[in-house]
Amino acid sequence: METDQHTQLYHAHVQHPKGSGYMMQTGAFKTVKDAVKAYLVLVDKDSNPFGRDALLRNPEPLRVTLIPAELRGPDVMSAVGFCNVWDENGDDMYKTDEPNYVLVENPRYQAEVCYDVQDVIDAEITLEPMKCRHCSVVGETTYHDRQGDAYCATCGKWQLQDG
Ligand SMILES: [Zn+2]
Repeated sequence: METDQHTQLYHAHVQHPKGSGYMMQTGAFKTVKDAVKAYLVLVDKDSNPFGRDALLRNPEPLRVTLIPAELRGPDVMSAVGFCNVWDENGDDMYKTDEPNYVLVENPRYQAEVCYDVQDVIDAEITLEPMKCRHCSVVGETTYHDRQGDAYCATCGKWQLQDG
């Protein structure tokens, strides 16, 4: 039998402090985990890589706020603290001085981001740093347009050549 917590539906606001934030007013989320999954889909769909890069490079956790699905429009925004909604007595209906978010470990963080020569070929732009396929040294491999391959200054080998 499911608990109450799992039968209630929510909208969600998910944000990375150095990356992207999305308000998802679908009212279709049951858990924080659902919301993070949907957030990552949005980040991946974005034509601007800013959000994806921020997740890779910054270890800070995601901030997830679940908002009861029955709330609508300004009430949703106000539940996250983006605006205030006043009741008939002139009191703020949502006490959101401290947003009530849950911290979730950033699932995309990589302490050391580096690229393979194939990433550079696929992206058609220089991505740094590159990691050498042969000696695994990071930052000594540079791409040469004319050869269509990258050369490692540490071991002296071209990436696309065997051995
Ligand atoms: Zn090397």
